Amino acid sequence: MILRSRTESEELLKLRSLNTLMGLTQEERFHYFNLEKGYEGEVKFDRMAEKLQEERYTINDLLLKVNNSYFQIDTTLVSQEVIRLLDVKNFEGDFCLEKDRFFLVKTGREYKNPIGQLNKCASQFRQLLQDLKLNYLVEATIIFINPEFTLYNAQVDHPIILPNQVSRFLKSINDTSSKLNDGHKKLAQQLISLHQTKNPFTQVPTYQYEQIKKDIYCKFCSSFLVSLQNHLFVCGKCGGHETVEDAILRKVKEFQLLFPERKITTTTIYEWCNVDLTKRTFCRVLKKNFTSFGKTSDSYYI
Ligand SMILES: [Zn+2]
Repeated sequence: MILRSRTESEELLKLRSLNTLMGLTQEERFHYFNLEKGYEGEVKFDRMAEKLQEERYTINDLLLKVNNSYFQIDTTLVSQEVIRLLDVKNFEGDFCLEKDRFFLVKTGREYKNPIGQLNKCASQFRQLLQDLKLNYLVEATIIFINPEFTLYNAQVDHPIILPNQVSRFLKSINDTSSKLNDGHKKLAQQLISLHQTKNPFTQVPTYQYEQIKKDIYCKFCSSFLVSLQNHLFVCGKCGGHETVEDAILRKVKEFQLLFPERKITTTTIYEWCNVDLTKRTFCRVLKKNFTSFGKTSDSYYI
């Protein structure tokens, strides 16, 4: 049973919009692509884990805090006998583990050693359980999900699951019976209530309203080559379609995400989209989907 589902983080959504509307530096883009890739891997794993049967709780994307330091868990799987902390990695290519170094063989580019990160996370989690006066067995594992990933020097006692082992790993969990009681339920509720909403790890560049391109772009491929055809935006690059209303609502969401302090009015959204539609169209869509406040001339929507 999924108790907390996975959604794209605010950081990822912001970077995705900024990449399209402002452009990112090489380093920022590297970070952004890593987030996209990471999320893609997590979703892929979620789809595989959906098949898990018996009584288990799945809690996705927990950000917890112990002794003033934060730690993240991609998937927390509560079963009768054990709590599994799963860290899903979507790395691609030939990697090597050498002592504490974890690097891509081809370029030598070094990444944070995921085993070190995992061990730290597991010990913080155990500490948290102790603070809550709870006693459960905890097992932490890294799931390398990308079929194009290989790891040289992987040892049999490393807490890792390689791409061609993921199905068997899930099957072995599935083959273990699990019945949950009120204690497990309380534990899951506590973990969810301890989730931190302010993520201190986020890296979003600073941006000003003036720097951002005001335009409509394709929902599917982010191309600006969209044209209006019979109440639809049609992409000249990928051929994707989106209704005018959906596109405006998507842009409103984006505006709220990037500029939460600004009010939504017909004029702000009209300027934000900067597209060949009348203000009346924007007014109609906003009225239909939001509640308006204030007098007609300067009403805003929430
Ligand atoms: Zn497109």
